[in-house]
Amino acid sequence: MPARRFPRPGTPRRVATLSVHTSPLDQPGAGDAGGMNVYIVEVSRRLAARGIAVDVFTRATSSDLPPVVEMVPGVTVRHVSAGPFEGLGKEELPAQLCAFTAAVLREEAQHEPGHYDLVHSHYWLSGQVGWLARDRWSVPLIHTAHTLAKVKNEALAAGDRPEPRARVIGEEQVVAEADRLIANTDEEARQLVRLYGADPSRTLVVPPGVDLDRFSPGDRSAARRAIGITDDLVVLLFVGRIQPLKAPDVLLHAAAQLLADDPALRSRLRVHVVGAPSGSGLEAPEQLQKLAGDLGIADVVTFFPPQPPERLADHYRAADVTVVPSHNESFGLVALEAQACGTPVVAAAVGGLPTAVRDGVSGVLVDGHDPRIYAAAVHAVLGRRQLLSAGARRHAGLFSWDRTADALVAAYTSAAEEMHRATQQFRHPAIGPLRTLPGVQVAR
Ligand code: UDP
Repeated sequence: MPARRFPRPGTPRRVATLSVHTSPLDQPGAGDAGGMNVYIVEVSRRLAARGIAVDVFTRATSSDLPPVVEMVPGVTVRHVSAGPFEGLGKEELPAQLCAFTAAVLREEAQHEPGHYDLVHSHYWLSGQVGWLARDRWSVPLIHTAHTLAKVKNEALAAGDRPEPRARVIGEEQVVAEADRLIANTDEEARQLVRLYGADPSRTLVVPPGVDLDRFSPGDRSAARRAIGITDDLVVLLFVGRIQPLKAPDVLLHAAAQLLADDPALRSRLRVHVVGAPSGSGLEAPEQLQKLAGDLGIADVVTFFPPQPPERLADHYRAADVTVVPSHNESFGLVALEAQACGTPVVAAAVGGLPTAVRDGVSGVLVDGHDPRIYAAAVHAVLGRRQLLSAGARRHAGLFSWDRTADALVAAYTSAAEEMHRATQQFRHPAIGPLRTLPGVQVAR
């Protein structure tokens, strides 16, 4: 084995970002691609702009994919062969982690020791890979969970499968091993400490951001023309992967309730559902279509396939209200993007949504999933739309990916400094008690 060095102090120059189960090149809004993909893209671009090169390792899911893709200068996506390209579900990926890890370590071994200064893993599968890479490279492991099995299992929707015990154990291991845990919200940080025994001093809250240039109020009529609807319509919008956890069915029930309360609304009400089914606990559009039929509102519901960001911004702008009735949401980027476009949000008061939405100012938070309460909340928002729209823009303006990237760089730097100090101490035992540092090998 080549001689290892001590971890370098200061801001990292090259980061290995691990995203085993989903690629930053995928279109979000379907399958396993969602907020985490957007997060990795936005953060990686900004790290590169700050002079930190980012290599994103992700599993190759097609033989057509080139092994290496430059996403933007300074951000490289590396497609890793681990298991068959197609037909492998997320639940089968734990068996491919050894292959994935081996490929990551082999890639690094082609360079001089010290090629990567830090590992940032996303989701627990990547955390397992990052844990070993950290040990081999003697660099800090930063981990962002994005979702937590114990939290998800506490808030299961009907028809949703509980997350398996293997994931719970895997998450516990990564939480114990990571040098820094990045939580999206205070609530997530508390969950990491309470449910997973995370060390509070290593658990940092770094809110995600929103691209305020891309998601801006713009011209509402033009946005409506772009998606083929007229100004007189009342549009309720759902955006996201279609799965029980996101509860699009609650919106359909609420729309039916609104029409029952005010039949005259029928000619003007539209419900737009943007997104496609997601892997686990699949709730296909056909099921939602059937539900719309059963509720007698099929004529007002339109389904749109996943949209690229520019088109998605038009959907947000065109909507009167965006509804996020999720059973759980670690943050809820959709809520933030809608508000940045000046669209108030009605959201479930769960997970990160009370951070993403300011109750009474940028939208309304609803306890539980009773469609009648959602209908009442939508009705109330429609009555105060102008005021809430201004509040929504102000609230979204508090978030930015630049701030997220700056906070991450600070976390990276402090983790590197801490590891460096600890190894210096390790080298000079006379100056203090030894601390066991997994992952740090002494160069002799
Ligand atoms: N998204 C998209 N096109 C779509 C639907 C969703 O680009 O048609 C993106 C959306 O902009 C957001 C992300 O997918 O950034 C979903 O993130 P969120 O945090 O709301 O949910 P998650 O997928 O993480 O559960």
